[in-house]
Amino acid sequence: MEAVAFGYKCQECGEGTVLEREIPEYHTKIRGYPFVVTNARLGVCYRCGAEHFAVQETDRWEQLFEAAYEKLYLQPEEIRLLRNRLGLSMEQFAFLVGCTRQSLYSWERADRSRPQSRMADLLMKLVRESHDKGKVDVLRFLVQEAAQFGIQLKLGGEGQASMREAISR
Ligand SMILES: [Zn+2]
Repeated sequence: MEAVAFGYKCQECGEGTVLEREIPEYHTKIRGYPFVVTNARLGVCYRCGAEHFAVQETDRWEQLFEAAYEKLYLQPEEIRLLRNRLGLSMEQFAFLVGCTRQSLYSWERADRSRPQSRMADLLMKLVRESHDKGKVDVLRFLVQEAAQFGIQLKLGGEGQASMREAISR
């Protein structure tokens, strides 16, 4: 790998020098999602501790992120299988989930360069869950999905929900 060039004066404090440092497990956020980069290389000011990032290195992080999270999305063959199990043509399935036929076509391509949007992915997963199990607890399902991305969501109003249940019994 190419060396990341640091060694310049820190703009934060104006006094220290930014030196390259390799961090075995660097905790960061990429596109809003928590992510741990293995052997991250960044510049750290020896005086104030400010962190500096080289574009080529953060590009690498983005690629690592995409590779790691791509597995969490429905894969092309899973989408095609779901559609076939529902007995729908591409046009019909696209209408069901509110996308264009072209989008669906690109998501089902084995050599696709990027997966469907997160929103489309969640909707298709819900469709699959509903087809497999009938009834789906949508909120619970979405919270579990978020957890896979390292996002812990605590929903309010659960007390109210259980109270409604108690009253209807
Ligand atoms: Zn500094």
